[in-house]
Amino acid sequence: MQDLTAEILELKKSTGAVIFAHNYVAAEIQDIADFVGDSLELSLKARDCKAELILFCGVSFMAETAKILSPGSTVLLPVPDAGCPMADMAPAEEVKMMRSENPDAVFVAYVNTTAATKACVDICCTSANAEKIVSSLPADKKVLFLPDRNLGRNVSETVEREYKFWDGCCPIHDKITCDMILAAKAAHPGCPVIIHPECRPEVVKCADYAASTGKMLSIIRNDNSEGFVIATEEGIIHRMKKEFPDRKFYALTPCVICEDMKKITLESVRDALKFKQHEVKLDAATIENARLPIERMLDVK
Ligand code: SF4
Repeated sequence: MQDLTAEILELKKSTGAVIFAHNYVAAEIQDIADFVGDSLELSLKARDCKAELILFCGVSFMAETAKILSPGSTVLLPVPDAGCPMADMAPAEEVKMMRSENPDAVFVAYVNTTAATKACVDICCTSANAEKIVSSLPADKKVLFLPDRNLGRNVSETVEREYKFWDGCCPIHDKITCDMILAAKAAHPGCPVIIHPECRPEVVKCADYAASTGKMLSIIRNDNSEGFVIATEEGIIHRMKKEFPDRKFYALTPCVICEDMKKITLESVRDALKFKQHEVKLDAATIENARLPIERMLDVK
């Protein structure tokens, strides 16, 4: 593994590539990245990135977002079939049909959507800013929230609007149950449970905090507990252990793993850089149309 890491660092230097990694990818991938973060953090980095070559370690909609926000860069995704089942639940054609049936609704798309789907909505959001984005919309407008019914329903608990939810979800987070949370609390007394808002609302209510992976780090910074139970994809625990070496972190049992995120390996990163392979290609119209709802999101103060 050390040889492979050294080879990647050498290729990174010779190609000038900047490596982005999502919080859910494997620990050894996070360790060779220039930036590790959640969707919002990585979107902001992509927007400000001037690099000619971006290697995106995550799933395809994330690499597409980097391409949309940094269209002059070549963006590589090490494993082209690293996708997101939730993003695939809201195909652009179905969203367009829903638009024609709900002409007065504001279409809010979680960033976990394909570029083609983003291109036909009004505004995007991430799990870090979903409440802020929906709050910024006119109170008299119906909100059509897609594709994650769980995130949408969690937002609706605090932001009053008329909602219609797309029937999609993250299969990984949707599987988390209250029993799993209660068992973790019993196994680790005194450790707050931090859960991701892609989980079902009744399960979120069993936890102590709900937050995006980026915001989970702020919660830990501000809570003096010795340990925490982390109810999301286990990859984030690597970053938590690095940033807070004096705290303890416990994954839920059974462990929550996104197989698509784990498709990214050191070998695939090395090969992508070496052979400049698996470039994200989007046509100019899709980039332009998908960029608007993302920029509207980033402009909300
Ligand atoms: S954890 Fe869920 S939402 Fe995130 S990439 Fe995997 S399947 Fe998609």
